[in-house]
Amino acid sequence: MESIYYVLSWACHRKCKHCYDDRFRPYVRDALESVVVEGEQAYARIIANLPERMTYRDLDARNAQGEPEEKIGRIVLSGGDVLVDPVRTRILYPAMEAITRKYRDQGGVRIIVQTTGDLVTPEILDDLLARGMWMISISGMDDYHVGLEGDKKLPLVAHLKDLFARRGIRKSGYHAPVMGWADEEGPVYDMFGANGEEWIGALWPRGRSWLNGLSKATFSDNFCNGWSGGLHFLDHGHAGSEVSIEPNGDVYPCCLKSASPLGNLQQEAWWIFSIALPGIRRSRPSIWAIPNAWAYHLVGIPKHSMKNPCAKTRRGKFRAIYVLAAMLSIARF
Ligand code: SF4
Repeated sequence: MESIYYVLSWACHRKCKHCYDDRFRPYVRDALESVVVEGEQAYARIIANLPERMTYRDLDARNAQGEPEEKIGRIVLSGGDVLVDPVRTRILYPAMEAITRKYRDQGGVRIIVQTTGDLVTPEILDDLLARGMWMISISGMDDYHVGLEGDKKLPLVAHLKDLFARRGIRKSGYHAPVMGWADEEGPVYDMFGANGEEWIGALWPRGRSWLNGLSKATFSDNFCNGWSGGLHFLDHGHAGSEVSIEPNGDVYPCCLKSASPLGNLQQEAWWIFSIALPGIRRSRPSIWAIPNAWAYHLVGIPKHSMKNPCAKTRRGKFRAIYVLAAMLSIARF
């Protein structure tokens, strides 16, 4: 697997109007304990059921024998914000330790901690580095995060850069989705934020972004054909293979998410998803365009109410589309 996007908890210290899921928000007292316990009780079983190795073959990079190079995959640990108390101490830290243990002698793994940026402290950075963090991804540097609009974010950016420099955390020289960006040695950092062209433009036609009318996505954007969407998610073992996991272990083919998960990693081991359809290789854009259109026609998605076919597709129907896509993939090779 090249990449796993694992949401550890719904808890966040913010309630941004552009957020892609309305479950990401502040919780207090019993409600906070409830969302923390959900992630806390699930992470060990989820990690135990992840692939035995987090490596993949890059078909665009060949070794001397002409075979695809084996590269180290990534697990992105995200929220909400994984640095809020007590998510950080009760879920993030033990999850990082479990992931490091699992892959230490199995080819390794690159752990990315994604966080807004304003909760980072020197002590927390030291804790993250001690637990094997490869990259810290600062994702809140935009005008949609209250208090960070325009130039207001500049003092925080300068503060973070200073903290990183003092610990030898270098700026990543590449940016996703540029291939090869994950080949760097860590620790590294990256900073980004939402903008109308990218993160809340065609992406995120859901959650508060959708409810607040901020998403500009149309059906023709075909999220299934994007790197954070369904593109290559079936391509187990090769570059581009990526899935998204929720705090309770539900697995989705993309960050936009289908109405129902493909399965649950507390109950099912990874092989359910990885070898259930042997022989599948590159799920190409052209392949995904077909089930996308089929989903529209077969399931009857109201074009103007939800511009993502999977989001209105029920489990059985989605799986049927999944299998059809697989058959088409196989037929092409
Ligand atoms: S955009 Fe990020 S910081 Fe804002 S509510 Fe969503 S998860 Fe939290």
